[in-house]
Amino acid sequence: MIIILKPHTPDDKIQQVIDEVTRAGCTPHVSKGEFRTIIGAVGEEGQIHPAAFLTLDQVDNVVPIMRPYKLASREFHPSETIIEIGGIKIGGPNVAVIAGPCAIESEQQLLTTARAVHEAGAVMLRGGAFKPRSSPYSFQGLGEEGLKYLRAAGDELNMPVITEITDPRLVELVYKYTDVFQVGARNMQSFNLLTELGKTDKPVFLKRGMANSVKELLMSAEYVLSQGNERVILCERGIKTFEDSVRFTLDISAVPVVRENSHLPIMVDPSHAAGKRSLVNSLSLAAIAAGAAGIIVEVHPCPHEAMCDGNQQLLPEDFKTLMAQIAAVTTALGKKLQSSPAAPVPWREKPLKTKKGGGWTG
Ligand code: PEP
Ligand code: MN
Repeated sequence: MIIILKPHTPDDKIQQVIDEVTRAGCTPHVSKGEFRTIIGAVGEEGQIHPAAFLTLDQVDNVVPIMRPYKLASREFHPSETIIEIGGIKIGGPNVAVIAGPCAIESEQQLLTTARAVHEAGAVMLRGGAFKPRSSPYSFQGLGEEGLKYLRAAGDELNMPVITEITDPRLVELVYKYTDVFQVGARNMQSFNLLTELGKTDKPVFLKRGMANSVKELLMSAEYVLSQGNERVILCERGIKTFEDSVRFTLDISAVPVVRENSHLPIMVDPSHAAGKRSLVNSLSLAAIAAGAAGIIVEVHPCPHEAMCDGNQQLLPEDFKTLMAQIAAVTTALGKKLQSSPAAPVPWREKPLKTKKGGGWTG
């Protein structure tokens, strides 16, 4: 249920409603707009009665949210959420490009790629240190060693970094090195992992499972949001269909569908959808044109030597061409292509925060 307050309700009157929600045994989630505040009351069905709130004079309306996801819905948060990470904006009128190798293979491979994508205009560096592979005998990633290389490259270039986390037991370790937690397609419904990430204060980049609906993606986002972490970025990366000319079918319609139903930014991964280098540029441009908040794309200095996903990783010079094309589409849409801030951003010098509710410290 959401409780919509009258425009310009003062803080003490907002607090009164929050207290009432808590008293009813529900968890209040507050969304403060420019004029209006909306309070989401999340709890079990029937726990809270709209009539009790409609009698308060600061309450304009009380609306039940019929969807299975609540905090992720547009009703709860009518304006688009913009997520700021180290001076970079994801969502709203902004387009951001995240790039880097599929897997971190060595310090040199990562640094070469990082410098190239940074120079071409990527604003965030990706790289997997824990690789979820279909075969247990395939390269599984460098683990913490890889995370160290990623952090060092990000710091050298003043780029936030993103890396995949595959297991709730790794939250403390990965937290120390990354700026954004990536949840891969295969873990979209690892609810324990999502719950643990919801207790942290770092953004979660949630990829759609290859056999999951958009609705299920939004319900997974709800697991993170309901724990208090409001910074969730969604990602469409292709789904399984009967079509076999591509690795996965990029569901472009997921972009406007998410934007109609949710306030969360949605990005697109053209690399894993295509599975093939030659298709990556077309899918990237289609994604931006459809309203995506940006793309996450794989780049490798020698794709034929890559330890995974060699067929789909772009060469640095291909990536440069792609960036020029993205800049043109972004301008045509009247949106703003994000660029790296010139100076290091102060938040990165902050000490790591403790997880809410205790358990571990950074
Ligand atoms: C990745 O981005 O490295 C990855 C493994 O992608 P996905 O989870 O979408 O398969
Ligand atoms: Mn990959």
